Amino acid sequence: MTANPMRVGIGYDVHAFGERRPLLLGGVEIPYERGLVGHSDADVLAHALMDAIVGGLREGDIGRLFPDTDPALAGISSVELLRQVGVLMRARGFELIDADTVVVLERPKLAPYRDRMRAVMAEALGVEMEQIGVKATTTERLGFTGREEGVAAYAVVLLERASVEQEAASGQTAE
Ligand code: MG
Repeated sequence: MTANPMRVGIGYDVHAFGERRPLLLGGVEIPYERGLVGHSDADVLAHALMDAIVGGLREGDIGRLFPDTDPALAGISSVELLRQVGVLMRARGFELIDADTVVVLERPKLAPYRDRMRAVMAEALGVEMEQIGVKATTTERLGFTGREEGVAAYAVVLLERASVEQEAASGQTAE
């Protein structure tokens, strides 16, 4: 039986608001009175996208790849981690076909920064901006996002196994 060339992945992440700044989402600094707290730079959107890719690769989750107990990862740029996940994806013989994401928060409004987030995350993954969707929603003031205690993000990805010829051309091999 031929292995299915397509994979889907879903990712989810949450970070709490705290005193730390800046607010970083999708690798973009968003002017706001608060930021998110976490072991890395707490970029909840980049984390959700990474988690989706790692899920599609069946490599567990980003907590396994990048443990929050690793001192080397303290404060690390999530865009750099996203770039590393892209390298892992290609090493496993997969390409990113498409991704979509949702950031869940009451404030601030993200529309002015959305295309920049798409561009930054696409560049980290070595894909086109059109392959990465970013949108935002509120929860009508309900739940922890509605109370502005934190931000949640969801991501879905579609991955495709590169053909043998493509892998040979790129000099990379699947396991
Ligand atoms: Mg996270």
